[in-house]
Amino acid sequence: MTADLVVVGASFAGLACARAAAKAGLQVVLLEKKAAAGDKLHTTGIIVKDAVDTESWLRSVPPSLVRRIDGVRLYAPNLHSVDLHAPGYYFWATDASALLDWMVQEVRALGVEVRLQSLFTQAELEGTRWRLPMADGTEVRTRYLVGADGPHSRVATSLGLSSNQEFLFGIEHEYASATIEPGFLHCFIDRQLAPGYIGWALAGVRSVQIGLARRIPPQTLQNPGARQVKLDAFMAKIAPVVGVHGGQPVSVRAGMIPCGGLLARVSRPGALLVGDAAGMVSPVTAGGIRTALLHGRQVGEGIGAFLAGQAPDPAEWLVQRYPNFRAKRMLRWMFDRFQTDWMFNQLIGTRALRRAAELVYFHRKGGVALPSDYRND
Ligand SMILES: Cc1cc2nc3c(=O)[nH]c(=O)nc-3n(C[C@H](O)[C@H](O)[C@H](O)COP(=O)(O)OP(=O)(O)OC[C@H]3O[C@@H](n4cnc5c(N)ncnc54)[C@H](O)[C@@H]3O)c2cc1C
Repeated sequence: MTADLVVVGASFAGLACARAAAKAGLQVVLLEKKAAAGDKLHTTGIIVKDAVDTESWLRSVPPSLVRRIDGVRLYAPNLHSVDLHAPGYYFWATDASALLDWMVQEVRALGVEVRLQSLFTQAELEGTRWRLPMADGTEVRTRYLVGADGPHSRVATSLGLSSNQEFLFGIEHEYASATIEPGFLHCFIDRQLAPGYIGWALAGVRSVQIGLARRIPPQTLQNPGARQVKLDAFMAKIAPVVGVHGGQPVSVRAGMIPCGGLLARVSRPGALLVGDAAGMVSPVTAGGIRTALLHGRQVGEGIGAFLAGQAPDPAEWLVQRYPNFRAKRMLRWMFDRFQTDWMFNQLIGTRALRRAAELVYFHRKGGVALPSDYRND
């Protein structure tokens, strides 16, 4: 079969890209290896207000799939806490599984051919088209190829593009019921349990989500032991704040989160990477849904204009507008080297820490919410 565009990966980046390209009139095939986009999640699914502001698609999400959270409660290692708010700012907790399945229905309604259980393995350039052999013996030929296939992108490997090398590893349990203050995203700093990142808990849409992530030193990447995360110890520690009433988790989510920033080579003529595949995740907050949606949409629009002869190949110019996370890479560097529990215990009630935390969580500087600059972030 032939297509104008093949997108690999039916998650936030791939779905936003496929939708924009279909709206631009392209014939789009979306390949997804799982049986459903919402299966085997590896995300908490928190969506920041900035994404809702820029991505009009989110404003048509059924209200039953999201729950608004207005503040962050940040805990020092000794569990002293500070409440952070910004006027008008909020986060969405989402039923991420149902949200992704809803997004698939939406792009199908626009004419995108979504092929589930379709694993991308390789692509070869033949003349001006990419040829993708499929496991069932068929092949797809396409004018343009987008890799939105997550942190370990096979599209990147097949096309000789860069691959993520620096990661956090995160795991999250969902509980049917727990005692938790629902108005906050609860974030816990603890160098012993979450070196290089944090633990978190929130009352989500249908469950209480409790998770923990840690930095994986690059030299231990191949060692499965490096992914050990002490979630039980974390839950015991935060029990005074988040009480799980016995019982097993109703579901577990886990995954690698790229934290090295934008990759060096994310495109070649007629092909590009977007989302986690391109390293497009905030190295500090580990949030990647906003950038995946925003740049996925822009890539779809750019390819639509290119294939209509109205603009150059976005592989040449659009990738220049990808976020480089310069400031956040610097913060990541400092956090990796200088994080101490003592320091956060001392700083938790101070104005300096509050302002720094507001900058990280709400993109605020000097008390004024900055318009999000996605180019430099
Ligand atoms: C534990 C955890 C919690 C997180 N929480 C948040 C959060 O709350 N908020 C936030 O903003 N970010 C969060 N992130 C990061 C966020 O989930 C990612 O940045 C975001 O999902 C990236 O979207 P994506 O579309 O680029 O890739 P992904 O979501 O990784 O999706 C890639 C898709 O490609 C498919 N795929 C992979 N390989 C192939 C192949 N060869 N062939 C076909 N299909 C393939 C996969 O099945 C998947 O559907 C979290 C990450 C983790 C691990």
